[in-house]
Amino acid sequence: MSLRKRTDENCRDCIYDSLAPGTWRQQVSLCTIKTCPFWDIRAKPTSPIPESTLRWYGVDLADFQPRAGDLTQEIGHD
Ligand code: SF4
Repeated sequence: MSLRKRTDENCRDCIYDSLAPGTWRQQVSLCTIKTCPFWDIRAKPTSPIPESTLRWYGVDLADFQPRAGDLTQEIGHD
């Protein structure tokens, strides 16, 4: 199993809640535990996260927009 797949499975098992808004990738990308060794390499969403989902998680939309650009760039390098 590749490191990418192991990391994705680890993060999904850690944070994904099927009853909460967002796909597993969206939920993982919104993880705020920056001290986790997986944080820098966690999965990123493959499409923009709806504002309703961001609001549900209490994300500051003004703060998130610059990071969303970074996420898009990172996805392009996968
Ligand atoms: S980066 Fe976040 S979701 Fe992934 S394992 Fe760490 S704490 Fe869990």
